[in-house]
Amino acid sequence: MTATGHHPPRRLPIRMCARCQRFTQNPVLVHEHHGATGPGFNVYACEECAPHYPPPTDELSALADTPSG
Ligand SMILES: [Zn+2]
Repeated sequence: MTATGHHPPRRLPIRMCARCQRFTQNPVLVHEHHGATGPGFNVYACEECAPHYPPPTDELSALADTPSG
């Protein structure tokens, strides 16, 4: 079960894909940068590139999935 913080507006603005550097009308949030001392920014990708990005995981889960050996 996932809890979403806030819902996006009805219509998202056109974003540039961080992978193929192309503008897309259906941006997919693939990564969130949280600024330590300032406002963070979001990384968007087009629907075609979104699957290539790793799923948004918490830092705790990432640490737990450390490779051994
Ligand atoms: Zn793309």
